[in-house]
Amino acid sequence: MKIVMLGAPGAGKGTQAKRIAEKYHLPHISTGDIFRANLREGTELGLKAKEYMDAGALVPDSLTVELLLDRVAKDDCRDGYVLDGFPRTIAQADVLTDALAKSGDKVDLAINIDVPDEHIQRRMSGRRSCPQCGQGYHTEFNPPKEEGVCDKCGAALIQRDDDKPETVAKRLQVYHEQTQPLIEYYEKAGVLKTIDGTKPMDEVFADITALF
Ligand code: AMP
Repeated sequence: MKIVMLGAPGAGKGTQAKRIAEKYHLPHISTGDIFRANLREGTELGLKAKEYMDAGALVPDSLTVELLLDRVAKDDCRDGYVLDGFPRTIAQADVLTDALAKSGDKVDLAINIDVPDEHIQRRMSGRRSCPQCGQGYHTEFNPPKEEGVCDKCGAALIQRDDDKPETVAKRLQVYHEQTQPLIEYYEKAGVLKTIDGTKPMDEVFADITALF
């Protein structure tokens, strides 16, 4: 099953994408995670991507599209995957649609996690992540067992540079201009399901699993 996650930054699509991937034994593919892993490793791609990420802008397609197509061509993706953060523009969605069409395939399900803008700022301000293993947390909705410490690897948690308030405002603007049109795109393709993302995390997940 090939799944695309849609939703504003901070809607909780990353958390839900990981849970779907775990439950249905599918690889979780997050372009944002790939860029951040590259940055931790100090690669050229990571350093280039950071300039855009810190500004709340999209990383150009020249750095993003091939990376994603190479990833979904890997063996572990044969039975499907959960895409989190890709596509983010109509152009990216077209690339994915065309690549899949070559093997008579298509996206099976686009899950739109709907959260109004008013909720987003509060959610984003509480987000924390582990600089070592990438695990995400929220001070209010998904706190680690010990404040400020990663449950998985024990590293000190940080706030992502792109979760700072000024960057959040820009990311929301970019979302509305460039990514939101994908809701209509996948609706027309007949694969869109919209979920109320303002509910508690476990309820959102239950609503998602009811789609399968
Ligand atoms: P995310 O972790 O999905 O919120 O992504 C963090 C940042 O990475 C975004 O704000 C963009 O700067 C960049 N990014 C992630 N995925 C994409 C994509 N598909 N196209 C362009 N930029 C992306």
